[in-house]
Amino acid sequence: MLGSMMKQELLISDLIVHAAKYHADTEIVSRETTGEITVTNWAEVDASARKLASALGKMGLEHGDRIATLAWNNHRHLKIWFAVSGGGMVCHTLNPRLFPEQFIFICNDAGDKAIFFDKTFMPLIVGTRAHLKTIEHFIYMGPHDPEVAAAVPGAIFFDDLILGGDDAYQWPALSEDMPCSLCYTSGTTGNPKGVLYYHRSTMLHTFAISLPDGLNLSSRETVLPVVPMFHANAWGIPYAAAMTGAKLIMPGPGLDGDSLLSMIDDHKVTLALGVPTIWQMLLAAAAKSGSKMASLKRNVIGGSAAAPSMIATFRDTYDCETIHAWGMTETSPLGTANQIKAKHLDLEVDAMAALRLGQGRPPFGIDIRIVDDQGNPVPHDGKTEGALQCRGHWVVDTYFGKDSSALTDDGWFDTGDVSTIDADGYMVIRDRTKDIIKSGGEWISSVDLEGIAVSHPGIAMAAAIGAKHPKWDERPVIVAVRADGASPSEEEIISYFTNKVAKWQVPDAVVFTDAIPLNGTGKMLKNKLREQFGNVLIDRDA
Ligand code: ADP
Repeated sequence: MLGSMMKQELLISDLIVHAAKYHADTEIVSRETTGEITVTNWAEVDASARKLASALGKMGLEHGDRIATLAWNNHRHLKIWFAVSGGGMVCHTLNPRLFPEQFIFICNDAGDKAIFFDKTFMPLIVGTRAHLKTIEHFIYMGPHDPEVAAAVPGAIFFDDLILGGDDAYQWPALSEDMPCSLCYTSGTTGNPKGVLYYHRSTMLHTFAISLPDGLNLSSRETVLPVVPMFHANAWGIPYAAAMTGAKLIMPGPGLDGDSLLSMIDDHKVTLALGVPTIWQMLLAAAAKSGSKMASLKRNVIGGSAAAPSMIATFRDTYDCETIHAWGMTETSPLGTANQIKAKHLDLEVDAMAALRLGQGRPPFGIDIRIVDDQGNPVPHDGKTEGALQCRGHWVVDTYFGKDSSALTDDGWFDTGDVSTIDADGYMVIRDRTKDIIKSGGEWISSVDLEGIAVSHPGIAMAAAIGAKHPKWDERPVIVAVRADGASPSEEEIISYFTNKVAKWQVPDAVVFTDAIPLNGTGKMLKNKLREQFGNVLIDRDA
C-alpha cells in the first residue's frame, strides 16, 4: 500500500451539515406568500430539513422517488431541497409559469410521487389534479389552512409534517452517483425535456460557481437569488450559499421592482442574480425612489443577453459590477461567467465595457468549443462564429426517460447557441441558432439589434426578428414596446441604428406593440413574434 486519502462521497446533505455546523447563526430571510418576512438560519434549516426527510420516509417515499415543488424562493422551499435530495429522493422543481398542459405533461413524464405547493399555486393544483396521474401526496407549504383543506382534499400541511418529524434523523450515506434533482427545459419549441442532476455533478458545479472566477460567493456575502429555484435550480445559488455560509435573502413572490428594491435596501444585499427583465423592473423602481442601492456591489445577469445600456447603468449610477453569465438547464446551469483577468485591470472604459458585455469564460470543469455546419471546430479568434458546444462534469448526457445520449459522436453537447470564443476563452453569444436573422446569406445577430433598440430612451423592451423578405429571405424587424409616456416614431428608431451597425444590418421596420410575450423563464417568445409579425414586410409591400 502506497498510502491513501479518505474517500468521501460528494453529497448534497454535506452542504447543509457544513452550513449548520460552521454558519449556524447566519440568517436566511424569506418573504412569504402572505407578504410577511420570516428570518431563520442555517442551523434551523438543517434541523427542519432532517425532520422533513424523516417524515417523507414515514409516508413511504423511497430513494429515487421524484418529489415535485411548485414554489417561490422561500425558506420552506430551501428546506424541501435539502430534505428531498439529502434524504435520497429527487427534488423536481416545477415551473408554475408553464401552460397547464405543459405542467401536466411534465408531472406525468417525471412520475412525481408527491408535490409541495405554495398558496399562490393552489388554483393550478386544483385545476390540474385530475390529470396528475402519479402524485399521491399534496403537501401545502404552510401551517394548517382550512381554505386549502377544502380546496385540496387530503392535503398534508408542511408545518405539521415538520412537527411530526424525527429530531434524531441522520442523513443517509448515499452514493454520489445517485440522482438528486430534476429540472425541465422551458420547451419554447416542442415538449420540455427533463435534465436529471446527480449529487456528484451538483457538488462539483457548486464548488465551481462559488470560486472567485465563477460567481464568487463567500460567508461575507448577502445573496438575493431573484432567479427562481424552479429555473435551472436558481443557478445553484442555494447550494453555493450553504457551501460558503453566505446569507440568503429569498424574495418569495415579490419579484416586482419595488419589492426587490426593498429587499435589497432593507437587508443590505451585496450580490443579486436574475434575468434581464427583472433588472429592468428594478432599475425603474430605483430611479423612481431615488435609492442608490448602496449595499449592492455585484449583480449576475444571465438567461438572456444583458443589454449594454443596462450594464452601464448599474456601473455608472449604482456602482454595481455586472457579471454576465451564460448557461442552460442542461449545464446545471453555469457554463461561463464574465470575470476579468489581471491583464484586463487597466483597460480603458470602452474596452472594458466591450469585454464585460460577453458571457465570459468557462470555469474548470467545463470545456467549450465552436463548430461549423459540418461539425468541425473553428478557431477561437474572437471573430469566427460557430455552433457552441460544451462538455464537462455538470453537462447533461441523456435526457430524463430517454434511451439515447443527446451528445455528438465525439461526446459534446450542442447548445443551440451561436457564439464566438477568443484566445482567452471569452465567449460571446451571437444568437440562438433559431433566432439569428439570415439576410441574403449573411447573419445578423438579433441580440445586437435588441441591445441598441433598448438603449433608446423611448423603448422599454424590444425583440429583433427575421421577417420574411422576397429578395433577402429575411430582413430584421424590431418589435418594440414604448417606454411609459414616450412616443418615438418608427423613423426615429430606424435612424437611431445609423452608424451603430453596418448599413445592411439596419432594421427594415419597427412595429410597436403593447407587450412582448415571455416564456416561463422570462425569455421573449420570438417564435410567437415571428408568427405574428413575420409577414409585415411582405404585407407592407403588397
Ligand atoms: P431554454 O433553453 O429552455 O430556454 P434555459 O433557461 O436552459 O432554457 O436557457 C438556456 C439558453 O438561454 C441558452 O442556450 C442561451 O440561448 C440563453 N442564454 C442563457 N444565458 C444567456 C446570456 N447571458 N446571454 C445570451 N443568452 C443566454
